[in-house]
Order: sequence, then C-alpha cells, then structure tokens
Amino acid sequence: MKIRTTEFVISAVKPEQYPDSALPEIALAGRSNVGKSSLINRLIQRKNLARTSGQPGKTQTLNYYLINEEMYFVDLPGYGFARVSQEQRKQWGKMIEKYLTERRNLRAVLHLIDIRHPPSAEDVMMSEWLHHIGLETCVVTTKADKIPKGKRAQHVKIIREKLQLAKDHPLVVFSSEEGLGKDELWSWIEGKLS
Ligand code: GDP
Repeated sequence: MKIRTTEFVISAVKPEQYPDSALPEIALAGRSNVGKSSLINRLIQRKNLARTSGQPGKTQTLNYYLINEEMYFVDLPGYGFARVSQEQRKQWGKMIEKYLTERRNLRAVLHLIDIRHPPSAEDVMMSEWLHHIGLETCVVTTKADKIPKGKRAQHVKIIREKLQLAKDHPLVVFSSEEGLGKDELWSWIEGKLS
C-alpha cells in the first residue's frame, strides 16, 4: 500500500467514541510490549505516529489510526501485564469483547506473538477467542531480528503448534526493526479491505 496520509484519530475508552464511519478496520491484538506500536509505525513508514510504550500496559484504550482516509488500524490494549488490578482486567475484557463481537467495520485481526517465546496461556486464549468469534486473523510473529535466521522456522513451528493453527493459517514473520514481512503483511491486509 502506498501511504499518502496518516492520522492519529482517538484513544477511545467507549464505543460512543469510535469513529462514526463505515471505513474498514484492521485491529491489532497481543500482549503488552509485543511490538504493536512499532509494527504500525513500520507499516505506515512513520517513526512515531503510534506511541511505543516505555510503560507497557498503561494504556487501556483503543487507539484509532486513519490511513489514506480509506482504512483504520485499531490498536487494542495489550494483555498480560501483571501490574493491573482485577477490576482493570475485567474492564479490559469487556471493552475488547464488545469491540471484537459488535464492531461491524472490523474486517480482520492481526494477532501479534513475540517470536522468541512460546505463546503464553493468554496468547492461546486470545487465539481461541478470535477463532470462536469467527474473525479472520493473521498471526504476526514480532521481533524476528532478535532470533538468528536459521532458528526462526523452529520458533514458528512451536507457535503454530501451541496456537493450534491450521497448516495454511496466515502467519507473517515480522521485524519492525528491519522491515522484514512488511510487504507480505500489507498484501494480506489489502486482501481484507475490499
Ligand atoms: P506495544 O506495547 O505492543 O505497542 O510494543 P512497542 O511497539 O512499544 O514495543 C515494545 C518494545 O519492543 C520497544 O522497546 C520496541 O523498540 C521493541 N520492539 C518492537 N518491535 C521490535 C522489533 O521488531 N525488533 C526489535 N529488536 N525490537 C522491537
């Protein structure tokens, strides 16, 4: 995709704040610190439109980014951050569930998993949840530059097994640092927009 315009639109905490628009939305899910902001910045070739967090898990909002006035990236609040209260966790669950099950503009979800580690119980739960809802998903294994090239396939295999992905389930090996996987991921996303 050729990026012409990008705009941070809103940090929404409730559905009334979601943009009043019919444009397609691609959501990003993953544990906090997995690299969601960095991935958005890399996809749209902006250094800092999405805020990369020094403080993981602090933002319990849905962040909307408008791309070319034709689609939105929706950065969902990261899960798996230990230092949040039970109450915050519940709130998080409700907000995400509502968005994922009710938002009509949602076309697909990028589920980010750190390539270095086997998926956590929460990663597995999120994956099952997304499939259960019936959403189109692409697993994106992030931070690939942190693993030697020759070892990546083995890590991907473990991630596929743990998430019980079908053989042909879309999965993109990604590095925001190096740009690896960018074109492949864009073509998957573009396929979901029309
Ligand atoms: P978020 O909390 O999911 O939005 O994660 P961020 O995008 O803020 O990234 C968390 C940390 O991981 C930051 O220090 C990033 O610089 C780092 N990071 C993210 N993606 C990559 C990557 O592809 N390669 C490397 N080496 N570091 C990354």
